[in-house]
Amino acid sequence: MERTLSIIKPDGVAKNVIGEVIKRFEADGIQIAAMKMIQLTKTQAKGFYAVHKDRPFFDSLTDFMTSGPIVVMVLEGKNVIAKNRKLMGATNFEDAEDGTIRKDYATNIEKNVVHGSDAPETAAFEIGYFFNALEIQEK
Ligand code: ATP
Ligand code: MG
Repeated sequence: MERTLSIIKPDGVAKNVIGEVIKRFEADGIQIAAMKMIQLTKTQAKGFYAVHKDRPFFDSLTDFMTSGPIVVMVLEGKNVIAKNRKLMGATNFEDAEDGTIRKDYATNIEKNVVHGSDAPETAAFEIGYFFNALEIQEK
């Protein structure tokens, strides 16, 4: 059993596809172990995306991530990190496979609807960034 952090980004919430995204997770056998809707401050967004702090898109990305509410979730399941990344599709939606969330709903490379942790270490950091142990359902 594995856990990963998923975020429905401000563009996904604005496009009214929260249910559509969650439906795809559930249809793939992924369970939701925690969930909440919040709006990040700039400081919180910069802390979350600290690995990208030297990238040219950092300021724009952190502005975008604070532009409206987001839905953060802990997803649970076998190989859920890879499974979620596959459902999401490539970062740039133009490169994403047909039938992926980003291919279907992204606006551009930045406004790409969803975030998903990319490894067990980043998943642990990202889950801890948003949730404490009491907020995550134990099986
Ligand atoms: P995420 O971390 O959000 O799941 P990812 O792992 O596919 O996405 P990263 O390389 O970690 O992609 O980039 C983080 C986010 O930064 C992307 O999802 C996207 O919103 C934004 N981003 C990435 N590359 C660019 C770029 N070249 N221009 C603008 N924004 C970008
Ligand atoms: Mg990433």
